[in-house]
Amino acid sequence: MSSARPTPVDRSEPTPAPASEALFERARAVTPGGVNSPVRAFNAVGGTPRFIRSARGAWLTDVDGTEYVDLVCSWGPMLLGHAHPEVTAAVADAVSRGTSYGTPTPPEVELAEEIVDRTPVERVRFVSSGTEATMSAIRLARGFTGRDLVVKFAGCYHGHVDALLASAGSGLATFAVPGTPGVPQSATDLTLVLPYNDRAAVEAAFAEHGDRIACLITEAAPGNMGVVPPEDGFNAFLAETCRRHGALFVSDEVMTGFRASRQGQWGLDGAVEGWVPDLMTFGKVMGGGFPAAAFGGRADVMHQLAPEGPVYQAGTLSGNPVATTAGLATLRLATDEVYAHLHTVGDTIKAAVAEALTAAGVPHRIQSTGTMFSVFFADGAVRDFADASRTDSSAYAAFFHAMLDRGVHLPPSAYEAWFLSAAHDERAVQTVLDALPDAARAAAAAREERP
Ligand SMILES: *Cc1c(COP(=O)(O)O)cnc(C)c1O
Repeated sequence: MSSARPTPVDRSEPTPAPASEALFERARAVTPGGVNSPVRAFNAVGGTPRFIRSARGAWLTDVDGTEYVDLVCSWGPMLLGHAHPEVTAAVADAVSRGTSYGTPTPPEVELAEEIVDRTPVERVRFVSSGTEATMSAIRLARGFTGRDLVVKFAGCYHGHVDALLASAGSGLATFAVPGTPGVPQSATDLTLVLPYNDRAAVEAAFAEHGDRIACLITEAAPGNMGVVPPEDGFNAFLAETCRRHGALFVSDEVMTGFRASRQGQWGLDGAVEGWVPDLMTFGKVMGGGFPAAAFGGRADVMHQLAPEGPVYQAGTLSGNPVATTAGLATLRLATDEVYAHLHTVGDTIKAAVAEALTAAGVPHRIQSTGTMFSVFFADGAVRDFADASRTDSSAYAAFFHAMLDRGVHLPPSAYEAWFLSAAHDERAVQTVLDALPDAARAAAAAREERP
């Protein structure tokens, strides 16, 4: 690797976080790993996760009183920034009228209308998490087609659904193996895992098993192995392949929906290329920071759901009035100007990241789809999970901590998208830009220290 680097590596002490450390210790005594979702534990980057006591706009404040520019945005949902006054007011008003009735309510109708209006889905059903949305979409696809097999891509994450926590088997078009203990072999015996962006693999799988495949599910643009955009026409190819074989095409827009663009990833390719998924799943942004998610699609498919049809699906808190009020307020405020702002701010940050990493001699690759992007600490195009796995996670860990010590909270894993919001203003962006050169040098030093 390149040698001469004029500026010395910044070895300044990490920002102390005694209150977070104390809470983390208490948390670990009562909760596995001290967290309620694994990536929050900082295992991939080391150190102590910051316990956040409040957030406003683009900023998080931890329990020690330290402020950070938030480039996680709750892993996507906070499109408008934290504690947006209009969303907060709508939620406070909803809460004051009771938080759950177990009956239909007005806001869930309005949110469903908003989603049907923005996306190609004709009918939509609300659930409480993205996991429930994909699980229910697959059940519905199986019920509708009377077939059992599900095709997914390596590196795509669809929540912790048993059948989708699967790794590729020993060859293309062979059945998957469980991706975690606790998932029985029988749950993944019906799952095929293929490499992303690989048309030949899709064709081979459908040639061999086409008449048994209920659905193919894919992230509309993968964001859970870093951002890996579909190659031109790939989603259209998937839709067409499914159609030819009588399988359903399930486009998972839990992350990209209302985030990559006003109409999600579908607005970037489906609307342009003229194809429509049979089923779609949504979450994150559409819940406005509350536990709300949805699946929807063709009216004739959705018609198979209980109580209209025989495929059972239900939820005590589904369509919750507070959550759907937050989602509705968020989507109504997510105007074209918001997406234009995300593009502008994203372009500024991407350019500065590239400049800093280049100056420090750190191999990197920045990939985007719409307003979403991620930074791989590896050379060359990333078109599937094997490419993404070449990322230098120790260089990322050093970069992450140097940014954190300079007031920027990145995702605590090298395989995640960086998220922005409408509230990322000049001060927030400047804080990121100021932190980058030192962080890039810390990443370069971590590469050199490796055995
Ligand atoms: C986050 C995510 C999910 C899972 O959603 P949860 O609400 O965490 O269950 C599913 N699919 C995609 C593409 C996601 O990004």
